[in-house]
Amino acid sequence: MHDITGHYINATWVPSIGAEHTDLRDPRTDAIVGRAPSGAREDVDAAVAAAVAAFPAWATVPRKERQELMSNLERLVRDNQARLAETIEVELGSPSEFAHDEHVGTPLAIIADYATILADEEPEERIGNSIIVREPVGVVAAILPWNYPLYQLVAKVVPALAAGCTVVAKPAELTPLSTSIFAELLTEAGFPAGVFNVVYGSGSVVGQAMSEHPDVDMVSFTGSTSAGRTVSRAAASTIKRVALELGGKSASVVLPGADLTAAVPASVAYCFTNTGQCCNAWTRLVVPRQDLAEVERLATRAAAELEPTLGPLVSAKQATEVQRYIEIGISEGARLVAGGTGRPEGRTQGHYVRGVVFSDVSSTMTIAQEEIFGPVLAILPYDTVEEAVAIANDSVFGLHGGVWAETEEEAMEVALRIRTGQVDINGAAFNPSAPFGGFKQSGNGRELGVHGLDEFFELKAIQV
Ligand code: NAP
Ligand code: MG
Repeated sequence: MHDITGHYINATWVPSIGAEHTDLRDPRTDAIVGRAPSGAREDVDAAVAAAVAAFPAWATVPRKERQELMSNLERLVRDNQARLAETIEVELGSPSEFAHDEHVGTPLAIIADYATILADEEPEERIGNSIIVREPVGVVAAILPWNYPLYQLVAKVVPALAAGCTVVAKPAELTPLSTSIFAELLTEAGFPAGVFNVVYGSGSVVGQAMSEHPDVDMVSFTGSTSAGRTVSRAAASTIKRVALELGGKSASVVLPGADLTAAVPASVAYCFTNTGQCCNAWTRLVVPRQDLAEVERLATRAAAELEPTLGPLVSAKQATEVQRYIEIGISEGARLVAGGTGRPEGRTQGHYVRGVVFSDVSSTMTIAQEEIFGPVLAILPYDTVEEAVAIANDSVFGLHGGVWAETEEEAMEVALRIRTGQVDINGAAFNPSAPFGGFKQSGNGRELGVHGLDEFFELKAIQV
């Protein structure tokens, strides 16, 4: 059994003041595999007090020393990659290779990137008679979702610590296990007690208390747009900084003349990654109407090939929610060209869903507008490139997207017109050093690389 015995405060496991606990279930079987405490407001107070006490010393640790600790952490996470991956297999149901290479591999790349950034001298800035100094913002509350438990944690905590901030983190109730391993690795790497603390429990109690807390200087949240709104409201009374990474409904736009045999399978795969539980999933495939039949043929084949490789969704609740969206798609008149409701063939237990592709989707349909968070792709045909851009931008979200074209120049022209924080041209690779974040209701702020580090600084101007 995977039992978490308390909250991680001042580098020790402290018994929970909140008396309740949550059962942890393996999404592949729904079997109970452990438990975690459900913290109370007082647990948050204790963790925040530890982070406040640790801040002054940590904020003044020389950059070189922080760099050494970051390199130690990189080595320790690498040494523990298999153990972390096995834990994510259990808490999220992730297939083992994906857990190893992506769920742990990408965080490793991020830690390595910050170790490299810290190896450079602190940038000096002067404007006229002013010296511009960057100081850590203070105590950071990190509220995390379950879809990439280690990645989301690392994308916030590592730059926050690199900047000299101290942290209180709350993992999602569904996926607390990898966070507890990471907490111990940070301590083993030499990060001082109190710079990183974890409180387990619900968003409505622990997350709310963190967002409201007068001694928290910044809250960094990743999750649904509705919870992001609640966090912003709770944070408003103390004017703390709020960084939000929210949902998406990203479009892969295929321009006339693009290589369909490359664009279509890659777009289906991007939509189905992590069983569709990705904020940046390309859930809309926008294609020339004259290519629709060929696109459908390629998408049907890709979905059928991928379906048996997909892990389950994280919970019964998410599986029910995804089934509901598939039914909505059918009832609104979209045409199923792959998958459907129910479990895939051969799956008799666990929160598995089918790999679904809808065609003849119009932009006004629910499945073209709402984030489904499952492997459900909507194909939307267009007649002119002008219309393709309009469809891509017809969303309250603005997180990510793809453009496929015969030439990079052609793709670039369209990429510049898509109102999202990232766009990949012709299936270009993810860059762990590039700023990641949303336009519109996909959030504010940026994570990763030097831009992600900047989020955790206050600027001070000293006139001389
Ligand atoms: P969620 O409710 O937004 O959960 C994200 C995190 O916020 C969890 O740690 C959650 O705690 C916490 N939280 C919830 N309400 C809060 C509040 N009032 N104050 C402070 N913290 C709060 O997401 P979900 O319910 O797990 O998933 C629902 C949908 O969100 C998904 O279907 C998907 O559309 C979207 N989602 C998006 C992302 C993303 O990366 N953009 C990630 C996950 C989910 P608990 O432990 O109680 O859940
Ligand atoms: Mg929730």
